[in-house]
Amino acid sequence: MPGFELFGNEERTEVNDVLESGVLMRYGFDGMRNEHWKAREFETAFAAKMKSKHCQLVSSGTAALTVALASAGIGAGDEVIMPTFTFVASFESIMMLGAVPVLVDIDDTLTLDPKAVEKAISSKTKCIMPVHMCGSMANLRALKALCDQHNLVLLEDACQAIGGSYEGKPLGSFGDLGCFSFDYVKTITCGEGGAVITNNKKFAEHADQFQDHGHDHIGNDRGAETHPHLGYNFRISELNAAVGVAQLRKLETFIDTQKHTYSIIKEALSQVAEISFRRVPEGGVENYSFISFFLPNQVIAEKAHQALSEHGVDACFYWYKNNWHYINGWEHLRNMKSLGKLPEEIRKQMQDFNTTDFSQSDSIMGRTISSLIKLSWTKAQVKARAEAMVKAIKSVL
Ligand SMILES: *Cc1c(COP(=O)(O)O)cnc(C)c1O
Repeated sequence: MPGFELFGNEERTEVNDVLESGVLMRYGFDGMRNEHWKAREFETAFAAKMKSKHCQLVSSGTAALTVALASAGIGAGDEVIMPTFTFVASFESIMMLGAVPVLVDIDDTLTLDPKAVEKAISSKTKCIMPVHMCGSMANLRALKALCDQHNLVLLEDACQAIGGSYEGKPLGSFGDLGCFSFDYVKTITCGEGGAVITNNKKFAEHADQFQDHGHDHIGNDRGAETHPHLGYNFRISELNAAVGVAQLRKLETFIDTQKHTYSIIKEALSQVAEISFRRVPEGGVENYSFISFFLPNQVIAEKAHQALSEHGVDACFYWYKNNWHYINGWEHLRNMKSLGKLPEEIRKQMQDFNTTDFSQSDSIMGRTISSLIKLSWTKAQVKARAEAMVKAIKSVL
């Protein structure tokens, strides 16, 4: 990833279809649009690819998470369990609805630790939200068992793991709801966009309505539609959807390319005895968008990260000290800095992140480095990169 590395005529053709008719909106204007329904086309193709009954496109991955939670009836004071290692969108989407994010430790899968999740379940818990970070997944079987036992919704954030699978099912399709992002740096991109998938007819209907001001979408007179409940505007535009239609057709090729590159780099790193790799749960297949590995301790990991950049190896991430992906960097969340007053439920129920013990996550993230797997690297570049990575890391051991 990211998918923009391989933009071509396919994307241009789809976008031009939309520009020629001039209908940039996904709904209405039937007579003007020359039968182009790019958002609908994307939804049908994506649902099929994800082996799910329903797909709802929206304006971003963050919007997808918000819409998915709302469609499952999650609201003020409901607790949603999420990991300490994720993207800020996780707590943003939860808090948007007045619901309360409950942060829980990760394990060596770099995703939710089922044991820590079990401990965090309370009478207010409504949903468990695993985030399949950096191309690999949580132990969904264990999380599903907890959801069944406590009657909770399982919502998979598959924004970084599109194309991976678990027990033969596409990631995102195992839980009650799955969310994807097509933002500019994701495996397939349409500039800005996201999707919710589900097999639950009621959730699908709610998602369809919620993302478009609560419209029921019955009949073909938009002005005459009723509003069964409140909603917002999280619609995708036809221009973005058009790019997505073309990118989706390339998904398998992208995954194959990533897998090939990943194997070469993994083989090289495997020669270094001090390196171990992130654990992939049994039954899981990664999407190979990143390769993540552990160094023996935090000091060595920091030095290795520095050495990688000094050896000219770009796109390596040390998440532990990064502003976006780990609780350490979320000063605004830890100190509840919001523009307006936050809902009462959030202020009352939220953990104090300045004192909560996340030492289990710290001990894992402190040792973790991830390398992006780019689509545009040539064979020679991959080989040179693998060698440079080994050399850089060995220099600090
Ligand atoms: C990118 C991302 C999102 C949000 O997607 P946007 O489209 O940028 O809003 C959510 N979760 C994860 C794990 C992501 O990587």
